[in-house]
Amino acid sequence: MMFAQLNLNPAIVKAIKVCGYTQPTPIQERSIPEILSGKDIVASAQTGTGKTAAFVLPTLHHLSQSPSHRKARVLILTPTRELANQITTATSTYGKFLRFNVVSLVGGTSYHQQFRNLSRPVDIIVATPGRLIDHITNHRLDLSAIEVLILDEADRMLDMGFIDDIKIIAKKTSTNRQTLLFSATVDNRVTRVINQLLKNPVWINVSDKELAPTQIKQEAYIVDNMQHKTKLLRHFLTNQQIFKAIIFASTKVNVDNLAKDLYKLGLSTAALHGDLKQNIRNKTIERLRQGKIQFLVATDVAARGLDIDDITHVINYDLPKFSEDYIHRIGRTGRAGKTGTAISFVLPIEATHLKRIERYLGQPLSFTTVSGLEPTRQLTMKQDKWKSKKKKTRPHDKNNHHQKRKRHANSKRSHST
Ligand code: AMP
Repeated sequence: MMFAQLNLNPAIVKAIKVCGYTQPTPIQERSIPEILSGKDIVASAQTGTGKTAAFVLPTLHHLSQSPSHRKARVLILTPTRELANQITTATSTYGKFLRFNVVSLVGGTSYHQQFRNLSRPVDIIVATPGRLIDHITNHRLDLSAIEVLILDEADRMLDMGFIDDIKIIAKKTSTNRQTLLFSATVDNRVTRVINQLLKNPVWINVSDKELAPTQIKQEAYIVDNMQHKTKLLRHFLTNQQIFKAIIFASTKVNVDNLAKDLYKLGLSTAALHGDLKQNIRNKTIERLRQGKIQFLVATDVAARGLDIDDITHVINYDLPKFSEDYIHRIGRTGRAGKTGTAISFVLPIEATHLKRIERYLGQPLSFTTVSGLEPTRQLTMKQDKWKSKKKKTRPHDKNNHHQKRKRHANSKRSHST
């Protein structure tokens, strides 16, 4: 299928051409016609599948069909500031030949500027729930004319404890609105939100087929201990031809320490985590995008949404706590049809944790070694044990995982990212 067959405004098709997209991705092909017909949708799609354009393109088309008025007509809610900034940029890119105003309302940036932006006519608001609630509470925002409400990465917003905020926000919008929900996973919590906020949605699922994007080569290395990990990392960063990489570590302290170590080695490195001010985080991401930094050491704050299309490697220096974050992390590479490599370091004691990730992925990771840096220890669990248990354990483990995650996500995330 070609974009021209989707019946989008020609100004949007022209902008897509400028982006170099030749045809819609599966999520775009399936979502755009449903959204254009005015239906609510639930789309289960991973980041990296082109989901942003899947909801932005038809929404821009909808806006282009009737004249602007002063009040906002589209509201996009998203879990993180980085993602909000990217969606805002994508909206401007796809709508460059249309006339509309988009405003980003996220935490960590000046209220003053946001008040000024809101005093002008606005068509689209891209926001994180916390800051949006602040504006609603201060009577700075009227959402009564919202025609399209988009919940992006709904599962992550729920993980972050935004459920009540989302409900309050949805109540402030028009009851006739169209609601689009995008989520990497659809568990019981997401289903409850769907039942409460959406009307007879069409379900679109492309994630089962392509959980891990196939253009990403995945490798794992057993590491005896932290020293061994550090040696391997240095080997990769200094001897391999890595153009640009994100190195994920588990805590803010680990990120800072690792970034300092790499910097001392003379490598072009910066750190990114949730304790850094938003403007510093934005600058760091921009420097990485422009190639002024080669290696970004980050917590899972960089696991989702970050869209830089020339990241060639993702290195899991520490494995992610939550299996789905593995998918999100590696999705930072292999963007926009390019190839990428994901490297994971696994300590022998992490065998069970690794199995959980492999079950989520639906495939075992392939282990390899670097000559001269081979491990002296082995993982205790065997591959064939996993294979024989695969069918029985997957739904059970997934449920447990989500329950556990629900209980602990907020506190753990705030400590680690
Ligand atoms: P997303 O899943 O929205 O984060 O998008 C992932 C990447 O795919 C972004 O870099 C987009 O610019 C790119 N992209 C989106 N739609 C297309 C398309 N139809 N063809 C090629 N690249 C695309």
